[in-house]
Amino acid sequence: MDGAKEVTDEKIRTKDNIVAYETILKERVFEEFGETDTFTQQFEALTTNPERVTYMYDNMVRYDLLKGRYWKDLKNEQAARRHKKKGDNNFARGDIPSALKHFTRCLMKAETDELRGLAYANRSAALYKLNMYKECIEDIDLALGNTYPPAQRPSLLHRKKRATQMLGKSKVPEYHEPTPSIPGKARNRHTPHAHCVKQVEVGIDEYSRRRVLATTEIPAGQFISVETSMVNVVSGKSDLYHCHHCVNVCYNPIPCLTCTQVVYCGEKCGAEAWYDYHQYECNILSPLKQWVGYCKSLLLGVKMAFLANLQTFCNDFTQYLLPMENIVNKDIAKDNMFLALATSVIYYFIRDFTHFFSKKNIGASNFDDQFKDDLFRYLHMAYVFSAEITEAKPIFGDDPQLPYEVVDIEKQSFGLGIYPFFMHFRHSCSPNVVINYYGSKMVLRTTRKRLKGEELFVSYGPHYYYHEQSDRRNFIWRLFYYQCRCLACVDEMPIMALFEDEVRSENYVTVAANAKRCFLEGSVEIKAALMALLDAIDTEFTMEKYFYTTALWYHYDLVANRRRVP
Ligand SMILES: [Zn+2]
Ligand SMILES: [Zn+2]
Ligand SMILES: [Zn+2]
Repeated sequence: MDGAKEVTDEKIRTKDNIVAYETILKERVFEEFGETDTFTQQFEALTTNPERVTYMYDNMVRYDLLKGRYWKDLKNEQAARRHKKKGDNNFARGDIPSALKHFTRCLMKAETDELRGLAYANRSAALYKLNMYKECIEDIDLALGNTYPPAQRPSLLHRKKRATQMLGKSKVPEYHEPTPSIPGKARNRHTPHAHCVKQVEVGIDEYSRRRVLATTEIPAGQFISVETSMVNVVSGKSDLYHCHHCVNVCYNPIPCLTCTQVVYCGEKCGAEAWYDYHQYECNILSPLKQWVGYCKSLLLGVKMAFLANLQTFCNDFTQYLLPMENIVNKDIAKDNMFLALATSVIYYFIRDFTHFFSKKNIGASNFDDQFKDDLFRYLHMAYVFSAEITEAKPIFGDDPQLPYEVVDIEKQSFGLGIYPFFMHFRHSCSPNVVINYYGSKMVLRTTRKRLKGEELFVSYGPHYYYHEQSDRRNFIWRLFYYQCRCLACVDEMPIMALFEDEVRSENYVTVAANAKRCFLEGSVEIKAALMALLDAIDTEFTMEKYFYTTALWYHYDLVANRRRVP
């Protein structure tokens, strides 16, 4: 679970990337005027978002800071051939997962049908080796449709025949355990956009703060909700294994035929993405990624701005997100120079390098200001409300005598999503609800017993197990502009990870060994025992509680991520 720390650290760093541009701008102002106070005061005196964005935009133009930020993302046949060669070499060496990656990269960069055909054909061989017969057959069909050399067709057809036979014989493995679902009569009808149980309710307290409460006693380990993201982006190390539209795991994705940045699980997702937002995004995604660094939330905000063209998104937005926006501290906009700056540059990209403005009838006199306002708000909401979508990869040790060494879990973020129900939870550095992902579906479960009326908390990132109190408070302050007053912060709990060695008791070894089995063989019922242990501990901060909570979380992570290419 060290990954939880990495994910949070990354989120802290990403803001710095954008702030760097603010620093450059201020340096230019200082060079000219010998001070920056006037510049800042003028910004702070502005009263509307469009004014703030225009102010930053004009200054970026004034100091020539927008020039050279855009380039056209072009396919590159030579680079694609290099990836194919690397794929072939890796395949010959038996490193199939690496071969798979390079063939997909080749497909993303390839300019011609010929090269795409070869890459699909070779990827089908890699997929065959990984026993992914369904995917293998799909790739062979794609290769045959891409002017594949007639002389080599027979061998490809032979592989298809073998894959079809194997597919008939073997059980198709799933990417993860079946996603939990809630039977109709247990479902809460009053929570937004989620399948959520009746034992919780969403409330707003006297300060208009959102919160989630238990309506009855809830034991530890209780499944609370399963939620689909309203909007999401895929980014990071796993971007080759996830559809950039539906975010599902996919080992044989197809590329966008125009840019080099996205892949889809099939033509349906590709077409939907194009219609909904990618027709605008395609031309600017590559420079945009460079510009915003790893700040995925800004990419998410841009996508929301494009999706706002669609009635369905507008309906969802009005129903689920708008009420949340009203609860966010409105003052953020006033002093948030960084957000205005990011908006101004993204606005420039969209206006000058996409056909979005012409589609939206730029003739409407107030459209420009309206769009600046929308974009600012979407970027802000994406920044504050998005959740990291993660996947867990177990790391197995070498020593069979030490089974506990096998369940270190590497947690990687592969995207960001907006989950309207999740947004209603408040943060605690000692949360009583954990998050696991089944693909892109967010599943929430309790790790503590809750009594009627008690609040349920998630962690927005910081955790007292891993993060010093000052780091936790800094994180929360920088992102959400409030002081964390959770139990762990008030009680000044030390970092639990310091005591990790002591925690590796005999019990831990047993649980860890079971967790490994559950990964390899399917679900093993270790949950019940853990939940009983958790329920038996009343004290909030004890080593045992830390240990059992961790084990429970491991267990859920493992069942949700069973099938992974290493
Ligand atoms: Zn898809
Ligand atoms: Zn594209
Ligand atoms: Zn706290």
